[in-house]
Amino acid sequence: MKYFFSIFLWLFAAVCTFAQTFLPGNPYYGNTGYIQYIAGNIPIIISAPHGGYLEPANIPDRSCAGCVLVKDSYTLELANELAAAITAQTGCFPHVIINLLHRKKLDANRNIEEAADGNAIAEQAWYEFQGFIDSAKQQVAVNFGKGLYIDLHGHGHTIQRIELGYLHTTAELQLPDSVLNTNTYINGSSIKNLVNNNLTNQTHAQLLRGDFALGTLLQNKGYPCVPSAGIPFPLTGEPYFNGGYNTARHSSYNGGNIDGVQMECNSNIRFTTAARLAFADSLAIVLNQYLEQHYFPYYTAGPCTVINLPQCTQQPEIWGQENACAGASGIYWVAPTDGAAYFWTVTGGTIINGQGTPQIEVLWNSNNTTGAVSILKTEQ
Ligand SMILES: [Zn+2]
Repeated sequence: MKYFFSIFLWLFAAVCTFAQTFLPGNPYYGNTGYIQYIAGNIPIIISAPHGGYLEPANIPDRSCAGCVLVKDSYTLELANELAAAITAQTGCFPHVIINLLHRKKLDANRNIEEAADGNAIAEQAWYEFQGFIDSAKQQVAVNFGKGLYIDLHGHGHTIQRIELGYLHTTAELQLPDSVLNTNTYINGSSIKNLVNNNLTNQTHAQLLRGDFALGTLLQNKGYPCVPSAGIPFPLTGEPYFNGGYNTARHSSYNGGNIDGVQMECNSNIRFTTAARLAFADSLAIVLNQYLEQHYFPYYTAGPCTVINLPQCTQQPEIWGQENACAGASGIYWVAPTDGAAYFWTVTGGTIINGQGTPQIEVLWNSNNTTGAVSILKTEQ
């Protein structure tokens, strides 16, 4: 069993001070019963607008001109499997919003007119779907300050690769990096906030198709993506979904600090349970990497396990001097357990003694104003 504790992380401090309306991991439904929200406690929001099965007779099939009625097969399952994989790996719960209605009845990735085609029940379900995403975003904004929204889809294109939509067209993605890095294209991006605020000052083009782009991290797991380092843009004439209503509405393109991406999954990774589970497991790993790389330096450690903080009334799990002085050393320790392994992580200082044991000595940097001590304690 693994336990992660931390003595100082601004990221988690807010969790203690804001009461949550929803219990993480539990399902909630709007009044129609057609929209499911599974509450989360990490800065990841997943929506599945096109995977529903329900075809209630009291909602007529949408008949608007040009409206798409086919569902994105197995994306409802994939959303749940991805959430389960994240929980299995981290002990944490992403926010998940699912439209249980078949796309014939409600297209939850369109404006309300096209989405509900004038039916009052479908309109109510649309408001519930969008409202749950708004609520999840609000919780993420309050607790973490920023986060990532994924609108999960499945495409029927024959080219077996994941299409990541950042609101840029094929022609735009074909532009040189130097052009994509101008404000014109940054302001049109669904990851606008991340471009302006990421941990290693990655450029827009790097975040789209550099070594640490979402597409590249997935490609490295064996899932080809466009855009990514391997496939930086779709070729002219190749099918490509660049992001729809939800991505534009709920991402930082529309303001705020929550970035978004439309993830269109190819059929090969959706149509069997084994393929989906393997993909969900890889995607969960990649999302951890992505958030740690770009958003939160301690993310992989498992933030939601950290609830015993000095800011809370409970006893902290790591003891030691909280108000250490720059340039001085300090001793930090946890309760020892027979047979346990200890791995300490320090930022703003250097471990000069005790790594691998229940107690360390840290020499804090002389020019720092903050520092952090974390431990991963693994019991047999
Ligand atoms: Zn779709």
